[in-house]
Amino acid sequence: MDASFDTEVIVVGAGPTGLMVAGELRCAGIDVILLDELLEPTTESRGLGFTPRTMEVLAQRGLVERFSERGVSLQTTTRGHFGGIPLDFGVFADAHPGVVGLPQVHTEAVLRDWVADLGCEVTRGHRVIDVTDTGNAVEALVDISGRSVRLRARFLVGCDGSRSVVRKRAGFEFTGTTSTLEVLLADVRGCDIRPRFIGEWLPGGVAMSAAIGDGIDRIVVCERDGPSSDHAVQPSFKSVADAWQRLTGEDISHGEPQWVSAFGDATKLASDYRRGRVLLAGDAAHVHLPAGGLGMNTGMQDGFNLGWKLAAVVRGRLPETLLDSYHEERHAVGKRLLLNTRAQGLLFLGGDEMAPLRTIIGELIGYEAVSVHLAGMVSGLEIRYPMGTGSHPLLGLRMPDIQLAGTQEQSVYPLLTSARGLLLDFVDDESLRDEVRPWADRIDVVTASPVADFGVPRLDAVLVRPDGHVAWVAPDEMGSLTAALHRWFGDPDEALKVGK
Ligand SMILES: Cc1cc2nc3c(=O)[nH]c(=O)nc-3n(C[C@H](O)[C@H](O)[C@H](O)COP(=O)(O)OP(=O)(O)OC[C@H]3O[C@@H](n4cnc5c(N)ncnc54)[C@H](O)[C@@H]3O)c2cc1C
Repeated sequence: MDASFDTEVIVVGAGPTGLMVAGELRCAGIDVILLDELLEPTTESRGLGFTPRTMEVLAQRGLVERFSERGVSLQTTTRGHFGGIPLDFGVFADAHPGVVGLPQVHTEAVLRDWVADLGCEVTRGHRVIDVTDTGNAVEALVDISGRSVRLRARFLVGCDGSRSVVRKRAGFEFTGTTSTLEVLLADVRGCDIRPRFIGEWLPGGVAMSAAIGDGIDRIVVCERDGPSSDHAVQPSFKSVADAWQRLTGEDISHGEPQWVSAFGDATKLASDYRRGRVLLAGDAAHVHLPAGGLGMNTGMQDGFNLGWKLAAVVRGRLPETLLDSYHEERHAVGKRLLLNTRAQGLLFLGGDEMAPLRTIIGELIGYEAVSVHLAGMVSGLEIRYPMGTGSHPLLGLRMPDIQLAGTQEQSVYPLLTSARGLLLDFVDDESLRDEVRPWADRIDVVTASPVADFGVPRLDAVLVRPDGHVAWVAPDEMGSLTAALHRWFGDPDEALKVGK
């Protein structure tokens, strides 16, 4: 590392997104400083679970087991919803189930432990107040209890949430719609109410309640004719309890509030995810109604897409243009996220005028193709990155965790825990293995075969990126493996070439 740098990459914000970025960079051995303005981790429960794709991401780094090691049991389910209309993720037979009722604090704790085990502790009490891209470096001006310090790195990733200072100071455009409503939220102990997991439509608005562990219920309430909010003022528990009583007739005022908050339906997206040496991820890049619980999930997946690419660029294996694929791939996901959550918001929070539409969408979900379409959107399993000209249905999608014969690991995801590339050779083809050998320092090769047909056309081999997406397949793309290896993994190590 250049002696004038304090680190290779500064990550601003140790929420789920920043932790994921830092973890992925550390998996590749990159030097990282992870800053957070908070002196202690937040205790706000916020995001309450994982979509099936996030569960897969966690499985690909061996992180699922860490929850039980901390004494946290995961309540897995294939039950989901689209704007309050029940939806079954079980239509993706090859997917991991999602998780519900898991406060975000547990997720952050697991990610923090993982990142710490990889050699990076969160640097707390460090508030970034300015960011300057100098062309060959990026500088962060950091406030530490009133003292200013300048930190210098090759890249900086803004994972500093919806009010991102990085986004503002680095000049990112952030456009969309402002909030038109206010949804009140409280985590309450001892209020003794019946669950309304995916919400209940009532004459004056919508009420939702769900147990989130430790005897606490999450209460969410939106009155149709209530005020909109910029959420600058924290609501009182009394205002939540009053709104709940007006809608449901139930008295929860005797409950003990653990956390009270409010959110709206502002919907905004950064027009670029990269400006030179500064990148954005998570809520810093996209804000929306937390319909379907997608914010944290999308942020973690942004980080999963970015980390290995940034590591390859910092290592000098690939040019900075690789980072444009981060924008290309994840900005498209962000756009679709905004579309999806706006549609869900209309269905979920709309009044009686939406009732016919809800009924019709409920009927349509009965058709498998519709169900697959909507479940793909909400679960993250529909995400297909552009990979070139091939037409195999798996190309660009995430590799499913199929069972394998011939490996100790038994299925695909445990083969990805080292965050390297993976060539799965299903037909014991020596010429393929020879072709990949010069990249042996960054790609694992496994010869195995699927235990069962998994519903795709003939597949002789598959190249999987470190984020689990399929970058190349044989026989469809035969002849282009070397091009795919160069594109995603850089130039090979000459010393590893056959015969050398
Ligand atoms: C009420 C509510 C319910 C939600 N429910 C769900 C759900 O069910 N499922 C779901 O997926 N998502 C949900 N979300 C959204 C989810 O909480 C966010 O999308 C998620 O926290 C985003 O993660 P992040 O790491 O991008 O940002 P954040 O979690 O906001 O983390 C940003 C971090 O940056 C730090 N920071 C900020 N500014 C600076 C600075 N200048 N310098 C240094 N550090 C800084 C902060 O202290 C913080 O630790 C919900 C959100 C809310 C508000």
